[in-house]
Amino acid sequence: MRIAILGATGSIGVQALEVVRELRGRGVEVQVVALAAGRRVAELCEVAREFEAKAICVLGEAEAERARALLPSHVEVLWGRGGLEELAAHPEAELVLNAVVGAAGLRATLAALSAGKRLALANKESLVIGGHLVMERVHLHDQLIPVDSEHSALWQALRGISPGEVEKLWITASGGAFRDRSPEELERVSPREALSHPTWNMGPRITVDSATLVNKAFEVIEAHWLFAMSYERIGVLLHPQSIVHGAVELVDGNWIAVLSTPDMRIPIKYALTYPQHLPPPPRDFSLIGRDLEFREVPTGRYPAFEAVLEAGIAGGTAPAVANAADEELVAAFLAGKIPFTAIAEGLRSVLERHVPMRSPSLGDILAADSWARAETHRWMTQRFGPTIGHERRVDESDDG
Ligand code: NAD
Ligand code: MG
Repeated sequence: MRIAILGATGSIGVQALEVVRELRGRGVEVQVVALAAGRRVAELCEVAREFEAKAICVLGEAEAERARALLPSHVEVLWGRGGLEELAAHPEAELVLNAVVGAAGLRATLAALSAGKRLALANKESLVIGGHLVMERVHLHDQLIPVDSEHSALWQALRGISPGEVEKLWITASGGAFRDRSPEELERVSPREALSHPTWNMGPRITVDSATLVNKAFEVIEAHWLFAMSYERIGVLLHPQSIVHGAVELVDGNWIAVLSTPDMRIPIKYALTYPQHLPPPPRDFSLIGRDLEFREVPTGRYPAFEAVLEAGIAGGTAPAVANAADEELVAAFLAGKIPFTAIAEGLRSVLERHVPMRSPSLGDILAADSWARAETHRWMTQRFGPTIGHERRVDESDDG
């Protein structure tokens, strides 16, 4: 199998490369033909050399210059938005793993699907902001394979089940880093505390999104598009152990749940080797002898979750606005510019000012994204003073 990995220097990308090494070590044929990242040029070039990639893509022209100096001359070096789209449609790649973070991933998703590639999708923002655009480009059976652990679980639980047998889909949430904090304490939590997730080890944005449960609202939207399920038939359960990732409630009262240790290499590997399950499992026995707890998400406890879920249900451009506002608010929180609780407050305020547009085009979505970023910065400046900094454009988001 020949694959392209977008976002190769991130949390998912690095774990995907580990999975590839492991599969190759066991004699499974996997060739990494193309690799993309943002600004971590040296790291990207190192893996490009290791895997003898034929093409790479970086964020800008300056990064491309640096990459050219580090790679043999036969390696094609692309850059920017156009470069990422070209890489996603690389003629030699059969499967594209999109593990870019943020709204920047949508164009790559559309490019890969339009080129007829099988897409292993980690970039949840693709479905959150452009679900209808993504799904209308899925033409082949099993062309789009979810990497997000909850959706990988549902995908497996739904194998052999017909839509009429399904009552409801359930995804689980750990509750994030602050699940036991009082509302007063939340005013003062630091970025460092927000980045220590109790069960998963992930990139910075998704870790903060797990503490606000915004990540879970995004995942409900993701499930809505992936499994063509209405919002009232997708539920969220708080499950602090992160052992059950997703469950399908059947009409006759049976439940099919998928359990594994919280290790993203498991769903990544399944997306790469689908429909096969291949050994070895990560050596970890935390599955055994644990008490598993489940409860519904308490109303009012996670205001950012509620705001984003409402945006998902409103549909159109509203989820794109929620995503962009959240990206900016999380970046400002991580930079120490706003308190944790301002993420929910800002989301609510920006969403209230937005009039969603129905069935938006890619251009409409990107326009809503830009509007939301500007509006979020306007709100932050008004609320916290003019030292908050400048807005970024969608294609500038990066691992820094
Ligand atoms: P990360 O921040 O660790 O890595 C992001 C990667 O994307 C990096 O390689 C970065 O260089 C690249 N990138 C960023 N902006 C770019 C741009 N404009 N153009 C090209 N490349 C760009 O993020 P992550 O935690 O690996 O998450 C990646 C995606 O997977 C996100 O959408 C996240 O929600 C989703 N996801 C992650 C996890 C997890 O465990 N980390 C789990 C489920 C889903
Ligand atoms: Mg998830």
